[in-house]
Amino acid sequence: IGGPKNLPILESYLDDEECEAKKISSHKPRLVILGSGWGAVGLVKNVNPNDYHITVISPRNHFLFTPMLPSATVGTLEFRSLVEPIRRIVASVNGHYIEASAEKVEFQDRLVEVKQHLPDGSSRDFYVPYDKLVVAVGSQTNSHGVNGLEYCNFLKTIEDARLVREKVFRNLELACLPGTSEDERKRLLSFVVCGGGPTGVEFAAELYDFLNEDLCNTYPKLLRNLVSVHIVQSQGHILNTYDEKISQYAQERFINDSIDVLTNARVKSVEPDRVIFSQKNADGVAENKELPCGMCLWSTGVTLCDITKDIAASLPGHQRNKRAIETDTHLRVLGAPLGEVYAIGDCSTVRTNITEHIVEFLKTYAVKANVSIENYEITFQQWRDIAQNIKRRFPQASEHLRRVDSLFTEFDQDHSGTLAFAELTALLKNIDSKVTSLPATAQRANQQGIYLGRKFTKLARAQESLAMDEVVNKDIDDLVHRPFAYHHLGSLAYVGNAAVFDFNGYSLVGGLVAVYLWRSVYFAQSVSFRTRALLFMDWLTRGLFGRDITP
Ligand code: FAD
Ligand code: MG
Ligand code: MG
Ligand code: MG
Ligand code: MG
Repeated sequence: IGGPKNLPILESYLDDEECEAKKISSHKPRLVILGSGWGAVGLVKNVNPNDYHITVISPRNHFLFTPMLPSATVGTLEFRSLVEPIRRIVASVNGHYIEASAEKVEFQDRLVEVKQHLPDGSSRDFYVPYDKLVVAVGSQTNSHGVNGLEYCNFLKTIEDARLVREKVFRNLELACLPGTSEDERKRLLSFVVCGGGPTGVEFAAELYDFLNEDLCNTYPKLLRNLVSVHIVQSQGHILNTYDEKISQYAQERFINDSIDVLTNARVKSVEPDRVIFSQKNADGVAENKELPCGMCLWSTGVTLCDITKDIAASLPGHQRNKRAIETDTHLRVLGAPLGEVYAIGDCSTVRTNITEHIVEFLKTYAVKANVSIENYEITFQQWRDIAQNIKRRFPQASEHLRRVDSLFTEFDQDHSGTLAFAELTALLKNIDSKVTSLPATAQRANQQGIYLGRKFTKLARAQESLAMDEVVNKDIDDLVHRPFAYHHLGSLAYVGNAAVFDFNGYSLVGGLVAVYLWRSVYFAQSVSFRTRALLFMDWLTRGLFGRDITP
């Protein structure tokens, strides 16, 4: 018992003594990971099993293959094929799993406060101690303050997908009942998707494919003419984070498929039988409109989890971003004791504060050299060194520093052949403004997890070999491993028997070939042979027998 709240502290685990490997790891530094999603799994799969005593804490006992979730809503894939038990993943590193959610982090005592809800409605609270903590809790659905979300469906968990599937088939059955009026049929078969991002778009596409390919074989053909699918998007285009060509292709494709795309439209409220929204017309005047609907899918983006907010709020002065936990380029949470707490995936963002970093550095330099920083002139060679330093420390800025020489001339406003302090600051600020924040995608979370897994393995090695005095007061993360660099491998989305790709400025849109490519990318990314086999079977079954129309 201990910690600020005098709760029990978990000191040993049921299976610590189970086998030789677990006995050994129980004496290793405690690595605690919050979450069982893309970030957490990327990490667990890449850390050396014998270096840490690993504990994964998450309320969700499985990893969810999110990119394929929209396909499960209409029976293209089975739910089972999209999940992998977290225990199986954790067992591969002789680790432990606790089914509970993290509530708070006590940085000084190195404890995570954890809560498990029990079946009788009570809850059990306790602390889990850590030496290293990784926060990978993802994000939660954003309500945007809209009323009536209790009438909406969501698409974030396997349970959500199950509810969507149930609702789709229930509405079809209700529409077939004798005594259902024509208007009521139309309403039941009107599907409204709020949000034109990849999740909403893929759901609309899957639904549409299903309605066209399987509906007619199994339900009265009359229904086909009553079905409608609508996408309500607040921006001017759907898939607006993708390349413009792609966004256009998707939009045209949908219009061809008679999926109703409503752009520049903002949902105001949702009622049990309709969605109320305002849409700007060509003159920019907002008009209030409504759509009757049988099902409304809410997928308009994400916001912070409670624990994420709490962590950011408990490190005042260090955390300035309202939308995520800020880390340095080594993914260490800013403000927490150095090298103890890391954050990855959707809940985190990497701060690139090049200006601040370099100015700070120059100030200490100026103090040492006893010159006033305002009068300091930076030579061309010095600028090259600075640029080199930035590239190493902020990999995300590298692409904006390709033209080192011309940047110097461009910002040497007075053509003095040197950069005055003000000129340098302007240059750095310009680069800062060009570095965009990392996308909230599985790709990014996974890359960050893999990065930390490899880094932790290196750190364990280094701790063994470095003498203690070498380690003290040194940035050991920086000593043994490079900062995190994100590699964009392209975005892709399924738009109804066609798929779109966006890869570093190259865009690819197309039919069957693209669809197979789309599948194979995710096929290759699935976490185990088991899920890969299940996915394959699902696609095969669907090809042979059509979609499964049972809930
Ligand atoms: P998650 O994978 O969301 O994992 C978070 C984990 O933390 C979960 O296990 C959760 O249960 C757990 N958790 C939550 N709160 C707590 C707590 N308090 N304590 C402990 N654990 C907690 N991205 C792509 O790149 N391509 C796609 O095609 C794509 N399609 C998507 C489709 C859908 C339907 C959805 C919902 C997302 C999609 N994404 C896609 C986005 C992608 O899934 C996320 O960016 C990714 O999951 C982020 O990984 P993460 O590890 O940060 O969080
Ligand atoms: Mg995760
Ligand atoms: Mg996930
Ligand atoms: Mg995360
Ligand atoms: Mg000058």
